[in-house]
Amino acid sequence: MTRSFYPPQRTLMGPGPSDVSPRVLEALARPTIGHLDPLFIELMDSIKTLLQYVFKTQNALTLPISAPGSAGMETCFVNLVEPGDTVVICQNGVFGGRMRENVVRAGGIAIMVEDEWGRAVSPEKLEEALRNNPETSIVAFVHAETSTGAQSDAKTLCAIAKQFDCLTIVDTVTSLGGSMLEIDNWQIDAAYSGTQKCLSCVPGISPITLSTAAIDKIKNRKTQVQSWFLDLELIMGYWIGGGKRAYHHTAPVNAMYALHESLVLVKEEGLENAWNRHYQNHLTLKAGLDAIGLDLIVPENERLAQLNAVKIPDGVNDLAVRQQLLADYSLEIGAGLGSLAGKVWRIGLMGHASRKENILLCLAALESTLKHQGATIGSGGVEAAMAHLRAR
Ligand SMILES: *Cc1c(COP(=O)(O)O)cnc(C)c1O
Repeated sequence: MTRSFYPPQRTLMGPGPSDVSPRVLEALARPTIGHLDPLFIELMDSIKTLLQYVFKTQNALTLPISAPGSAGMETCFVNLVEPGDTVVICQNGVFGGRMRENVVRAGGIAIMVEDEWGRAVSPEKLEEALRNNPETSIVAFVHAETSTGAQSDAKTLCAIAKQFDCLTIVDTVTSLGGSMLEIDNWQIDAAYSGTQKCLSCVPGISPITLSTAAIDKIKNRKTQVQSWFLDLELIMGYWIGGGKRAYHHTAPVNAMYALHESLVLVKEEGLENAWNRHYQNHLTLKAGLDAIGLDLIVPENERLAQLNAVKIPDGVNDLAVRQQLLADYSLEIGAGLGSLAGKVWRIGLMGHASRKENILLCLAALESTLKHQGATIGSGGVEAAMAHLRAR
């Protein structure tokens, strides 16, 4: 294509990217300045402070990696895992499997603790694994499993890890800004996130935060971090160098304007209010889904508000429905991943996408599309959601 690309205006209610706030898009288009310009350095400091706010941490090492969530994941693992280290990974979906890949490639030994997909990670199984493997030095798990819509009790899991003197690495890509997350109070040593889920920002940046215990482990490494780009000691020289910051790479300057604006949005709303908005909107969507007769696969007390995994009714063509939603309503919802492919749809209510008008659009579009596809389902999704909203 040799002409300019003008994408359509979609409503993004899948597993990410989610709708970007117009304020964030506007910030992205501001003039580019040098990445060592004193004003840009000021912006970097402000981003760090705002990230500490959304992560609820005092960690000095809190900064955005200039690459997507997967790079934040890799940053935590390549820096913290040394060859021969034993890492217990609790897996209850797709992303735990990627943690295993990271550990093995870093020369570590991964011990997998498997939970059913669509359920939270079991604290009992973690405890048992740590008792059986006393050489374990790191525990890793996903807080909000975007592949299944399950949320795990990160506070309890980290408390268990600490009883066994382990560092904790937690995937907070989909939880940051969308559900309760307290890095310091919950004793999370390393967390990574993404900008395109609940932060209403464009994809491509990965906020991370590491505790002093995690930094000590990195400082005492016997071997060099195998990745030059993700070596935190080098990145710290760029992001935390005080007055004399060393060039490491060129930060994606305009993407940083976007990230900053998205964090300002969270601060304006109030972090706890943002968590609550995601939860309330989940309840409204649920009321509508109940009326249509669509079921969520995750048990109530383990559900993630910002990602709703809906069971596809028997006999319904998964792809045909999603294609029609996109063609007729410009609405994107997510397909199932891994063992849930073809079995569920993933309806995201993340960040700027977590709004009443999106819920109503999604319910109306789903109901009409499913009927058009010949499915026998209930009616009145929009009315049920509105009734729920009015009663609130
Ligand atoms: C989206 C996601 C990732 C990966 O983020 P990318 O920005 O796609 O690299 C990792 N973990 C979870 C839980 C996610 O939802």
